[in-house]
Amino acid sequence: APLSQGEANMALERTFSIIKPDATRRNLTGKINAKFEEAGLRIVAQKRIHMTKSQAGKFYDVHAERPFYDELCEFMSSAPVVVQVLEGEGAIAKNREVMGATNPADAAPGTIRAEFAESVGENSVHGSDAPETAAVEIAYFFSGIELVG
Ligand code: GDP
Ligand code: MG
Repeated sequence: APLSQGEANMALERTFSIIKPDATRRNLTGKINAKFEEAGLRIVAQKRIHMTKSQAGKFYDVHAERPFYDELCEFMSSAPVVVQVLEGEGAIAKNREVMGATNPADAAPGTIRAEFAESVGENSVHGSDAPETAAVEIAYFFSGIELVG
């Protein structure tokens, strides 16, 4: 039978994720990873790194003109983070759903940000917002040989 529109859109996809310093400090890596896995996202690459402020600045370059940019780069380089590649059907949208809204006050119950985030800035996770940004963000942190599917 031909695929429905919904099924046709559900291609296996990869997205880039960061477990942010507020979460690694509170030892929440395992609890956050459980949320991804329960949602059907597979962690196909993962490592713990401590970014310099300039590495964080390059990653968040798109926000360079925003008033919170300096604070964001300070925060993202303040402690180790866990960078990861998540794979699944519609992984980009699914991950954004599991993360919840940027501001935890607006995040739906059960989402990572609703349960764990401390503020709009210290909000526990990053997730790519589109296929193009996912590809650029994955390539910024991982080489091909580290992506094992
Ligand atoms: P996201 O895609 O949901 O992560 O949100 P954005 O792309 O809009 O912003 C990137 C990150 O910048 C957010 O996850 C927050 O860590 C931070 N951020 C966004 N808005 C604010 C803000 O109003 N104040 C502060 N301090 N940080 C913010
Ligand atoms: Mg964003």
